[in-house]
Amino acid sequence: MNGAAGLFDADDQQGGESVADVLVPVAVDTSYSYRVKGGLVLEPGDFVTVPLGNREVTGVVWEVRRSASASNLKVVVEKRDLPRLQPPLRKFIDWVAKWTLAPRGMVLRMGVRAPDHAGPEPVRMGVRLAGPPPERMTPARARLIAAAEGGFAFRKSELAQLASVSAGVIDALVDEGTFEVIALPRDPVALPPDSDFAQIPLEADQEAAATTLAEKTAKGEFSVTLLEGVTGSGKTEVYFEAVAAALKMGRQVLIMMPEIALTAQFLERFANRFGTRPAEWHSGVAARKRAQIWLGAASGDVRVVAGARSALFLPFRDLGLIVVDEEHEAAYKQEDGVCYHARDMAVVRGQMEKAAVVLASATPSIESRVNAQQGRYGRVLLAQRFGSRKLPDIKAIDLRKDAAPRGRWISPRLCEAVEQNIAAGEQSLLFLNRRGYAPLTLCNACGHRFQCPNCTAWLVEHRFRRALVCHHCGHVERRPDNCPECQSADSLAACGPGVERLAEEVATLWPDARALVLSSDFPGGTERLRRELEEIANGAFDIVIGTQLVAKGHNFPGLTLVGVVDGDVGLSSGDPRAAERTFQLLQQVTGRAGRGERPGRALVQTWQPDHPVMRAILSGDTESFYEAETEARERAGLPPFGRLAALIVSGNDRPSAEQHARALVRAGFTLPPSDRWRLTPAGQLPSNEEISLLGPAEAPIAVVRARHRFRILVRAPRSADLQGFLRALIAAGPPERGGVRVQVDVDPQSFL
Ligand code: ADP
Ligand code: ZN
Ligand code: ZN
Repeated sequence: MNGAAGLFDADDQQGGESVADVLVPVAVDTSYSYRVKGGLVLEPGDFVTVPLGNREVTGVVWEVRRSASASNLKVVVEKRDLPRLQPPLRKFIDWVAKWTLAPRGMVLRMGVRAPDHAGPEPVRMGVRLAGPPPERMTPARARLIAAAEGGFAFRKSELAQLASVSAGVIDALVDEGTFEVIALPRDPVALPPDSDFAQIPLEADQEAAATTLAEKTAKGEFSVTLLEGVTGSGKTEVYFEAVAAALKMGRQVLIMMPEIALTAQFLERFANRFGTRPAEWHSGVAARKRAQIWLGAASGDVRVVAGARSALFLPFRDLGLIVVDEEHEAAYKQEDGVCYHARDMAVVRGQMEKAAVVLASATPSIESRVNAQQGRYGRVLLAQRFGSRKLPDIKAIDLRKDAAPRGRWISPRLCEAVEQNIAAGEQSLLFLNRRGYAPLTLCNACGHRFQCPNCTAWLVEHRFRRALVCHHCGHVERRPDNCPECQSADSLAACGPGVERLAEEVATLWPDARALVLSSDFPGGTERLRRELEEIANGAFDIVIGTQLVAKGHNFPGLTLVGVVDGDVGLSSGDPRAAERTFQLLQQVTGRAGRGERPGRALVQTWQPDHPVMRAILSGDTESFYEAETEARERAGLPPFGRLAALIVSGNDRPSAEQHARALVRAGFTLPPSDRWRLTPAGQLPSNEEISLLGPAEAPIAVVRARHRFRILVRAPRSADLQGFLRALIAAGPPERGGVRVQVDVDPQSFL
């Protein structure tokens, strides 16, 4: 017997029925099987409505097969009218689930929730000139008719404004039949970008870099290239040429950014180059718009998406290029729900889509640099700023000798520099990576400290909001007038600085300066921040005070001085990436200076001017810093030379979390040997050739949201099957009960 018809006959003879294995967007790893009845024809990727428990949910068909024992299965309710999820995305979802150990249903959920909000689109009505002129003509009516000449459709308000008449004039002419009311065509979600709209002339090294990226994109194959260029070298202009190449091939583009809500400048630049803005994808975009973008990505109508990490799960029809801008950013790591690193997963998606991937940064992660050095990734370098602009001159202010006066944070030298800048009519940025007014409030009479009731953390005073806030769980309470412990009046004191307090100091020092605190804590949200960033770029402020929000990616042409108020913040956090992170942040923030016509300088206040990070920043010797950090990582078997995973065991009380964590580690050491990994036995020194199981240790922030936490760290050589080990470990460990939960974080970025 051969041929499809023959097989079909055989099935029929067996009485086999069509069965669909459907993945549903809930926290399960397996798909559920449903009977496919009657004339319904399903294929993998189809969206279906299926019964689940006592409700109906939308799921995606993962497999269709025939089975002789389907009679007791529930039945697929209907096929939904949504574009089929394509094989590369389905494969990607499987892959991400396997890598992160998240249930497949949860990964699917990230990719399929958007279209649920599509809903019917409201129809907007407009007016159009249609009939003979009215019997009685007035000047207003004449203006109106003249303005509507040509038979175009207008929104009523638009036309009224154009002709300087009131809406009533239009209504009257509608009644007379001179105008007719019609439905306006729908606005497209995003207009098609034009790859040749306005190409700007590139400099020689930019041109070379752009050509490399464009050629790689035009090959239509998977590739990864690190685009490493100092701040202000024009990385955006350069990768735009890769975008143009993908558009010319008719393929789609995803540009990922760590803070998409703040990238108004980027959208504008994109429009200057391609004639229209890209579709924006992030949590600030209205649900219905997101639904449209989702559908547009699937149909291919939406050509370019600029988005946050979740854009990685959009159902692109033919994705040809993924750009990960500021690829070193920790914000690419999602820490809750499915713990995934969007940069790394972008590389995986690129591979599945046969797309080019560009990782762009002035301060690449050690991981990406090593990948480039070892030849896994290509590398393109921009060593100089655009237009022979110089990198800022960076100097340290040694706080051991030049400290600020008591209760202040701006040292005399920094003060002087700001003064000079104000006198010269130039803009200054004071950077302090602490939100709010003060990180700690205590009572001078009894020593009481305000702590979060749910977390091991101090409450941060936000004077603007008149509140004490926990930055870990969001707990908010009013700042009382008297100490809650000893009832003393006027005894509460703010300790340490936050940006709001720094602003107070600035106002005292320079009462006439136009100063702005840029903070996400003020009302007005993204819109306000976008407006303020634009105003800064336009030179509306003399002094800008901000957290890392201002450090990243922005272009402020008039900014010539950056003062880093606390350069040491973050150096002593116990995070294996602390040095790298601080280096990147300082390099980024000082890199805001001198991007325009005039040269810039930066002053970094520090208690540790001899720290290797500080020395690297001051000398500009980036290479030596990266080399030393890379060597240290290699010696310690840390990423990218080895791999890490964290298990966070949390419980309603300390003993239950600790007991569970200890039992889990013990279970690890009793696992039978495997040929896919070897574990260093308990009590022996860990080696870089074997997996080591470290901990459990109480988490540095021991309690978060009233849950007590213990951490177990798993370090593995690259050759080991880390995920296999983790699965075996969890299976061997005690069952999660009594409120205990185990969260798996593969490639952890946070160690708190
Ligand atoms: P980076 O992302 O590398 O920090 P940008 O892409 O933001 O740098 O570019 C820095 C500034 O220089 C921007 O204002 C950009 O418009 C400008 N610029 C870069 N290259 C060119 C060019 N070839 N012609 C004109 N302006 C450029
Ligand atoms: Zn007190
Ligand atoms: Zn809290």
